[in-house]
Amino acid sequence: MSWIRKGIVKIGLIGAGPSNLFLAWLLRNEADFHLIEEDKRLGLPLHCTGLVSERMAIALGISRRVFDNYYDKLTVTTNPYSSGVLLRFTNSRVTMLNRPGLEEYLYGEASLKMEHMGVRAIDVNHKGVVKGSGGFEDSFDLVVIGEGARNVLSRRVLGNRLVTVSGIQVDGYSPYLRNMVNDDHHIIVLFNEGYSSRFFTWIVPKGNGEFRIGVVDDTNVVGLRFRRIINQFRVTPRRVFGGRIVLGSLNVNYGYKSVVAVGDSTGVTKALTGGGIITGMLTSLILARVIHESDTNVPERYSSMLNGTLGRLAKVYSILSSILYNNIKLIEMALREVNGSHVEVKVPDYDNHMDALIRLLMTNPKIGLKVIKYAPLINMGGFTLRDVISALL
Ligand SMILES: Cc1cc2nc3c(=O)[nH]c(=O)nc-3n(C[C@H](O)[C@H](O)[C@H](O)COP(=O)(O)OP(=O)(O)OC[C@H]3O[C@@H](n4cnc5c(N)ncnc54)[C@H](O)[C@@H]3O)c2cc1C
Repeated sequence: MSWIRKGIVKIGLIGAGPSNLFLAWLLRNEADFHLIEEDKRLGLPLHCTGLVSERMAIALGISRRVFDNYYDKLTVTTNPYSSGVLLRFTNSRVTMLNRPGLEEYLYGEASLKMEHMGVRAIDVNHKGVVKGSGGFEDSFDLVVIGEGARNVLSRRVLGNRLVTVSGIQVDGYSPYLRNMVNDDHHIIVLFNEGYSSRFFTWIVPKGNGEFRIGVVDDTNVVGLRFRRIINQFRVTPRRVFGGRIVLGSLNVNYGYKSVVAVGDSTGVTKALTGGGIITGMLTSLILARVIHESDTNVPERYSSMLNGTLGRLAKVYSILSSILYNNIKLIEMALREVNGSHVEVKVPDYDNHMDALIRLLMTNPKIGLKVIKYAPLINMGGFTLRDVISALL
């Protein structure tokens, strides 16, 4: 008999992000969920661009009601006025999820036994006792840490050490960009050291002349970078928001005794971009399955399942992300090689960047030959090819 069927199981959820709310939705009516969220409202603070593969969003049961826009083209380039490489999504488009609409939707579908909004979890122990602000204290059969990229409780209780960068973005109007990007379903991704020396910059049309423009860099310079971009693209801001993006983890422990982590807290995010909505929901899907099927040792079984394919891929991608983001200058130089050549690639799905890269090189082998000269200049960021292979094995 599974653990959950032996009696009513009391589960404490720390954080009302999509990962924890999805878990509560999946196991609605199967467990008593107690939500502990430090903000008084869902979806705060706003931080996310919300771009996911439409196919994956639908497969996970997310309602189209929270799809704000869709994109069937994405250009990777050095400047919005350079042609760069155009990716056309053939099987699944990219969709922009509304946040906090996603959280509100999942919350509306889940059934929670108790909600402690405005309570910050301060301490969790391995026996499942959570202490929080305002004298809050309760004990649970299982505590699920879904604190996002903050990495306070997941570090203290599970020893996880996340690799993060800082992202800032703006929703605003820019007639300047409007003239350049006159298609509301076309995303522009810029690799340009002048904008960010650590990551890429994104320009996403929202419709009606509005854009979501974001940049990522080290915390001490990201504000400066952001202001420069706003000025250059002459953006009139409507709102500015952002947060920490998880690029991977150095040390990860998905669960121990009565505590597990889901979502960003696990360090498992999407390859190379740190997008974590879908991967976070996938970690919760795995946890829900383990809770549903296992008789004992839920954290242990969940850990071993996550350590399988998803965890191994996450480790490889952490290394690849680190290598990629140590080489922004080289990517910029490689992209300049194709400017003016109108390179176009058909890509089935937004979620697999490695697949897109392989397709690009297969469709245009000359590009591979042009950029191969940069290979000896690649900064491996302290890693070797052997590290990548041994992470895979
Ligand atoms: C600038 C930026 C752009 C991004 N763009 C994308 C994108 O385009 N696509 C994509 O897929 N992902 C994107 N992401 C990442 C995405 O936002 C996260 O991967 C996703 O939100 C993770 O969900 P989560 O449920 O794990 O945590 P979160 O959504 O971060 O939720 C965590 C919740 O826990 C609460 N909390 C934290 N600590 C405590 C505590 N101690 N006690 C109580 N409550 C607590 C917080 O208030 C919050 O409500 C972006 C992130 C940033 C910063």
